[in-house]
This record gives sequence, structure tokens and C-alpha cells, in this order.
Amino acid sequence: MTADDSQYMIVGGCAAGMAAAHAIREHDRQGTVTVISEEPCAPYFRPLIPFVISGKNQWEQMALEGCGPYTGSNIFVRTHSRVASVNPAARSVFLQDGTCLGYQKILFATGSRPHMPPDIKGVDASGVFALRTLAHAKAMAQRVEQTRHAVMLGGGLLNLKTAFALLERHLKVTLVVYSPEVLSQLMAPEDALLIRKALENAGLTIKTGVSATGILSDSTGVTGVTLDDGSHLACQMVCIGKGVRPNVDYLENSGIALENGIVTDRYTACNLPDTFAAGDVAITHEPISGAPISTALWTNAVEMGRCAGQNMAGIKTAYTGTFGILNATQVADEPFVSMGVVHTENSDCQVFRQATKTTYRKMVFDADGTRLIGAVFVGDITNAGLYRYVIRERLPVSGFKQQIIDHTLNYGYFMR
Ligand SMILES: Cc1cc2nc3c(=O)[nH]c(=O)nc-3n(C[C@H](O)[C@H](O)[C@H](O)COP(=O)(O)OP(=O)(O)OC[C@H]3O[C@@H](n4cnc5c(N)ncnc54)[C@H](O)[C@@H]3O)c2cc1C
Repeated sequence: MTADDSQYMIVGGCAAGMAAAHAIREHDRQGTVTVISEEPCAPYFRPLIPFVISGKNQWEQMALEGCGPYTGSNIFVRTHSRVASVNPAARSVFLQDGTCLGYQKILFATGSRPHMPPDIKGVDASGVFALRTLAHAKAMAQRVEQTRHAVMLGGGLLNLKTAFALLERHLKVTLVVYSPEVLSQLMAPEDALLIRKALENAGLTIKTGVSATGILSDSTGVTGVTLDDGSHLACQMVCIGKGVRPNVDYLENSGIALENGIVTDRYTACNLPDTFAAGDVAITHEPISGAPISTALWTNAVEMGRCAGQNMAGIKTAYTGTFGILNATQVADEPFVSMGVVHTENSDCQVFRQATKTTYRKMVFDADGTRLIGAVFVGDITNAGLYRYVIRERLPVSGFKQQIIDHTLNYGYFMR
């Protein structure tokens, strides 16, 4: 190894990469740990970037461990550095500027980037955004100054959070959703009614069942959006939230197995020796069905990154997998959790619902009712972690099924 080489190399410095770096450091106090990040700033808590747009938070408040460098943990974070390619046989990475760095073990934690649908024309106009980075958030915050109306394309969580941030800047905001309801990946239309109501009460205009065909612009940037129902919305900002794609371009021809993400085994390892992957970029498995899956959630990225770090440091640790859907967050001050199997239309699952004016719960059991396989909570998310445990561990529920249905199950039950 040369002086610039590293025992542990981590490509990507966010949830998964930094969790791995710290996990390595817990088990190996001496080994050199280098994190390479193409972003110009120290690692930060990405889910908070909408607050940069609303003006509620400055980026310093979202840095993961101060504004760096990570000297306290002896983790070297090399910012502003994009990895252009990797040669696992020679154990070296090549940066965009031509620098070559060696390593002994490497983690790929390069996350994902927004998907830009090819069928929408005009996405290159100024004032069109797809929020992913702090730099995007700062640019959006600036564009707000010349915006009266913003149009959001896509009804997923990221776009809802961004829409809410723009409402807080007193813009008129319209959400254009192709699906019958918002958050269609996370819940069925009937599960999302309270959230939709909260969003509309907050001032959001929601148009469902339509999609954009083109974005119009002139020298000032975006001027409008055309929709497939023939209508047109005049606007000065467009935000595209149409899902994400894994950042794997630098691994082309590297020999690392890719299948819509980086393929990993139960120990977060890739197909070549001493290579690992974690976070949004990795394909892992779903604990209920065992099917391959990738998710785009902070908590999953941290858990998997931690596990990968332990494996890199020689502590063999199995990753328990991740739910296709698992989210605990809030939009428009409405907390919600969605986990496991939640889309039950045309299925033989047993479904129990409870609704009040301000809360909604849906519990999903398998066809013979012996296991809880999914749940949605809106408005009141008390004890959601307990249900997550029951689902994830695939516990037979015969002894406490009625308590689940009545929502009287508590942690004490498992301590008996
Ligand atoms: C606006 C927004 C709101 C969100 N809200 C929530 C939420 O409420 N709850 C939730 O669970 N999740 C939320 N998420 C998702 C969550 O932030 C991600 O799942 C999480 O950040 C994934 O972490 P990661 O480390 O796998 O990847 P990333 O966070 O994407 O980090 C990967 C890093 O690698 C860098 N990189 C990529 N390619 C290279 C390369 N070739 N060379 C060097 N560096 C590279 C990237 O620039 C990036 O810094 C949100 C995301 C966004 C954008």
C-alpha cells in the first residue's frame, strides 16, 4: 500500500457510507478508513433538505457529525471527488481527475439519483428540479424568489415533502399524480385519505389520474406544464419526483454483478472478494418473501451500512433484509407508518381496518391469519415499532391476534 491507499475504502458518504465507516471504526481502531464523496460538503442528513427550501433549517444543522473533517473518529472524508471507475482485481479506484487510489476492502454506497422520465419533453429548462442534494435544495430556494406557482410531478413521499416546503414559502403548489391517489407506492388509495385531507387543508392542489407530457419555457426558464388531459398549468417551477435509479455507472466493466442495483449476499458482500455494497444502491432481500429488493429509505441504508461495516472489519454479520415498504415519517404534520404487505386488493390476505376522524389503522394478516404481514398507521403511530418486530420476525400470532386487531398489544406481552 502507498501512503494514499486505504485499508477500507468507502465510495459514497451519506447514510450507508458513514454508518459503515463508524461501524468499522468501532471494531478496528487503527485501520485507515477513507470515504470518497462527489458532493462538495461534509456528509449530511438528506431527508432534511426540504427544510433548506422552506428556510426552517440551515445545512449546518443537518450535517451528520459537524461540518467535518471527521478527525475525531479518524475517518478521512474526501469530498468533491467522483469515482469514475473501479478495478477490483487490482484493488484500485480511479477518480474523475485521474487520481488512482488503492484499497484492501471496498464498500459501494453511492445511493441513487432521481429518475427523469424520457417521455416528458423540456426537462432541461431552468427552474426544473429533481430534489436529491443540498445543492439542488439551495438552487430551489433561490428559484422560489421568482416563482408564484410550482407544479410537482409525482405523488411520492419526496415530492410531498418538497411540496410542503414550497407551501411554507407561500407559493401556490399543484401536485400532478398519475396514480389514483398520493403515496401509491406506500399505501392503497383508501389508506391515504387522511393524508390527502391534511395536504389539501395545508393548501396543496392535487390532480390525480393525469400526467405531464411537456414542460414549456422561455428565456426566464419554465413557464408551464402541459398535461395528457389536454390542459395546461402556467408555472415558474417544476419539481420531478418519479422515483430513483441506483448510481452504478462507475461500475460498468468492473465485474461487479449488477441487476438494477448492486447484487449482495446475506452478508452485504458483492460477487468479487472484499467488495461490499449497502444503501439505496444495493439489492438485498425482503424478509417476508426472500425476494430481491432495493429500497430508498434512510433507516434501511443506515442498518445495511452498519452491517456492511461490521463485515468489512471481520465481524461476520448477517443482514436481516428490508421490507419492500417501511416508512415512518410525516407530511403536512400527519405522521404515518407503512410496512410490509399493504396493497391487498385482489389478494386473499385478511385485512382489518379501524378509522376515526383523525386516525386510521390497517392490519394485514396472511391468508390463514397466522401471521401479521403488513400494517398502515396514519395519525397515531403508537407502538408501530412493536408491529414491525412482529412482521419482521414472522411471529405466529395465534396467542395475540385479537390484541393486534384491537390495538391493545404492548411491549410487555413479549417480556412475559
Ligand atoms: C428530499 C428527500 C427526502 C427524503 N426523506 C426521507 C424520509 O423521510 N425517510 C426516509 O427513510 N428516507 C428519506 N429519503 C431517502 C434517504 O435520504 C435515502 O434513502 C438515503 O439517503 C440513502 O442513503 P445512501 O447512503 O444509500 O445514498 P445517498 O444518500 O444517495 O448517498 C450516496 C452518496 O454517494 C455519492 N456518490 C454517488 N456516486 C458517486 C461516485 N461515483 N463517486 C463518489 N461519490 C458518489 C452521492 O453524491 C451521495 O453523496 C429522502 C431523500 C430525499 C432526497
